[in-house]
Amino acid sequence: MLDTILVPYDGSDHSQRALSCAIQLADSTEPVTIIVLHAVQVVDSSDPSFLVAMKMAEASPLNLKDARSMFDQYIVEHEKEVKERIGEYFSSLPDNIDIKIVVVEGKPQEVIKEYAEDDQNEIKCIIMGRRGLGAIRGALGSVSFSVLHNVDLPIMLVR
Ligand code: ATP
Ligand code: MG
Repeated sequence: MLDTILVPYDGSDHSQRALSCAIQLADSTEPVTIIVLHAVQVVDSSDPSFLVAMKMAEASPLNLKDARSMFDQYIVEHEKEVKERIGEYFSSLPDNIDIKIVVVEGKPQEVIKEYAEDDQNEIKCIIMGRRGLGAIRGALGSVSFSVLHNVDLPIMLVR
């Protein structure tokens, strides 16, 4: 049974429609958990400017503890933002559906793969947008492309 559905969410209309689709699919009397997963990439260590930023940080009074609490705050802000954006769904949600918001730091396609394939999360299928916030035209975005080709689970792409 598709009782745990993962909806990778970037705030785009496509991902919003993917969430609506998940709610419609879950429309039964059986309990269903929809996990709305949002990945935020705080640093990209493959980006050359990251090294420059690291050098600058060495010379700044910012210590690791400050950085940790700034990061935690950043994640909390993102959780709030996602909750606000999808808030309308909570008021009219059938009793059998539970929505959980998860915000994880990292590259979206990697975060999604790791979360979806972790047995502990018991994900049965993924519903996501074909495209997201990116401006480039085409059938698929880089995140949906990567998930489609690298994650071994049933996947539904929503236009
Ligand atoms: P690109 O990012 O390659 O410029 P795009 O933004 O149009 O293209 P994708 O990023 O692949 O397309 O987005 C497709 C879907 O992937 C989104 O609708 C959403 O479901 C998911 N997605 C994209 N970014 C994230 C993210 N940061 N966290 C969680 N899910 C995401
Ligand atoms: Mg994108």
